[in-house]
Amino acid sequence: MFLKDKCALITGSTSGIGLAYAKAFAAEGANLVINGFGDAAEIATICKELAVTSGGRAIHSAADLTKRAGTEQMMADAVAAFGGVDVLVSNAGMQHVAPVEEFPVDKWDAIIALNLTAAFDAARLAIPHMKAKGWGRIIQTASAHSLTASPYKAAYVSAKHGLAGLTKTLALELATFGITANCISPGYVWTPLVENQIPDTMKARNMTREQVLNDVLLVRQPTRQFVLPEQVAAMAVFLCSDAASQITGANMSMDGGWTAE
Ligand code: NAD
Repeated sequence: MFLKDKCALITGSTSGIGLAYAKAFAAEGANLVINGFGDAAEIATICKELAVTSGGRAIHSAADLTKRAGTEQMMADAVAAFGGVDVLVSNAGMQHVAPVEEFPVDKWDAIIALNLTAAFDAARLAIPHMKAKGWGRIIQTASAHSLTASPYKAAYVSAKHGLAGLTKTLALELATFGITANCISPGYVWTPLVENQIPDTMKARNMTREQVLNDVLLVRQPTRQFVLPEQVAAMAVFLCSDAASQITGANMSMDGGWTAE
């Protein structure tokens, strides 16, 4: 329970990878601020379960992080509840797939706002509290797409490359303050988001489930296996530990070998 009495704020944590982070940090005793959309009753149950696991408190911010005011409100709520944020995980993200010349400009703006600008604003607002305590951990869920590109994902690839650059800058600026900043860069992770794409892809491509899994989704991952949200969360817990105090400015690939090719 090495995160007892610390506050971990995880953006986009009502499902998928973000929820796995929240559960893993709760198991280490952290107070939690979770964020994201979803059914209010289900989110209340998640908060209750997290608090039971941690023995601390868990609150939810429904802030829309495509808007700067949303990120500012979420951070203000965290400070009001816990006096600051010790572990900041910027994880909320969205995707849109289209050729550049047809890419809807509102989708470009929203993806850059959520996947990159919200991480900048959250860090900007968390750092003074971390500096005051002389300890902090900033973790970004980047992606294999922070290191490599795919066609038709201009906004996502640009935002994730930007997030990797932001993280290196944070690492250098914060190096003498006991604060580390790192990216975790998964390949395909088995989340509801990915699972829900399978039936439509089967229909659209006239493929079996197996074909979609292997020939569409896992074709770039040499292990031919999905990353599990719990594996990503375990990496985040490690990055918070004392053993990881000299890991800063790193981009931790968890992609079954994708970016080794
Ligand atoms: P998900 O869709 O399961 O979860 C996304 C979370 O973000 C949800 O809690 C959702 O409510 C929240 N969210 C969406 N829009 C928001 C907004 N405007 N404001 C605040 N919260 C918002 O997705 P996931 O697969 O768990 O992805 C989480 C992160 O991991 C993203 O940054 C994504 O780019 C990254 N990632 C995912 C994969 C993958 O294969 N699933 C691979 C690499 C990186």
